[in-house]
Amino acid sequence: MPQLEATQWDIERADRLKALPPYLFVEIDKAKRRLREQGKDVIDLGVGDPDLPTPPHIIRALQQAAEDPANHRYSFTEGLRPLRQAIAAWYERRFGVTLDPDTEVLPLLGSKEGIANLPLALVNPGDAVLVPDPCYPPYRSGTIFAGAEVIPMPLLAENQFLPDLGAISQKAARRAKLMFLNYPNNPTSAVATDKLFQEAIELAQAYQIVIAHDAAYTEIAYDGFRPMSFLQVSGAKDVGVEFHSVSKTYNMTGWRAGWVCGNAKVIAALCQLKTNIDSGIFQPVQLAAIEALQGDQSVLQQTVATYQQRRDLLVDALAAAGWAVPKPQASLYIWAPVPGAAPSIDWARKMLERTQVVMTPGRGFGDHGEGFVRFSLTVPTERLREAVDRIAKAL
Ligand SMILES: *Cc1c(COP(=O)(O)O)cnc(C)c1O
Repeated sequence: MPQLEATQWDIERADRLKALPPYLFVEIDKAKRRLREQGKDVIDLGVGDPDLPTPPHIIRALQQAAEDPANHRYSFTEGLRPLRQAIAAWYERRFGVTLDPDTEVLPLLGSKEGIANLPLALVNPGDAVLVPDPCYPPYRSGTIFAGAEVIPMPLLAENQFLPDLGAISQKAARRAKLMFLNYPNNPTSAVATDKLFQEAIELAQAYQIVIAHDAAYTEIAYDGFRPMSFLQVSGAKDVGVEFHSVSKTYNMTGWRAGWVCGNAKVIAALCQLKTNIDSGIFQPVQLAAIEALQGDQSVLQQTVATYQQRRDLLVDALAAAGWAVPKPQASLYIWAPVPGAAPSIDWARKMLERTQVVMTPGRGFGDHGEGFVRFSLTVPTERLREAVDRIAKAL
């Protein structure tokens, strides 16, 4: 056998990785690193990862469970039955939605895992997936990994960042096997209407499209507003599923615990796929997630009050500085139209150089994110105040 020269062998990435859209934050990441190396005081409003700690009673549940050797072994992909029951009970209490814990609930290693894997379980190469644009990136990358085509659904300001389902061509609807929706929305912070969900269900029934609604932010909402679940709409369970997670609700992003619930056939397909990929959530984390869903809920009110105060601080200070930005009803984000006509990437880079404040250019979430930047409310309030002062001076 001819000896392969190690120096000549260029290890190449698979086509599915090469098919991913280019990573557009390279230059901003570089600039951020350079400024930090220079000892500059960088404030990062780019990442959507809660700065608030996980509540102590949840941590204690993990600690106790971790002491028990029975919890050290492989867990099942389908999760502990008490966790599935706790999720079903939470849906009943919060949304009035009844779920069968044995067939209509599946725990996930964070909802991102299930979202990215769902297309592998449901679509074939050459099929199409309807994906909002701008969007949370795993809807797009999961579709590409499955060899399917992304059909973007533009989220436009004039439509309150809801997709125009009437604008989807018959040809596209026929090819589509799956549609992703996400409300409260990341990155636009828009909230859903009953009507949107009803129209999505009608389209799904007419063309046999599975709806996957990502509901990660239903608990992070302001001024008393209570976002709805897709599964509250009549017919939803016949056509779709909803992803949810303890990540944002209970400040547990690092723990990796989420779930998908709704249509039993979709859930069985995803579970079959996952049995071949992972072995379930570490049981102490499952027991901690049960404590999160069933224990003291008062921390959530404090969390939301903190974000609401930050939202008001940021939006009011920007307005006082002459930058009018809508106040979101929900989510961790401010979706701000870029002043002037500069491309969002250039503008974010310029603001980073001038103020050492990181914001995410909307273009990174899709072509229709152009013209906006996303601010995240996940830095301590004092730091946010400092960031806003710097931005106001630079405007
Ligand atoms: C943060 C987030 C999630 C939650 O992800 P986990 O994997 O459950 O931590 C899901 N969807 C969107 C849009 C998010 O922003």
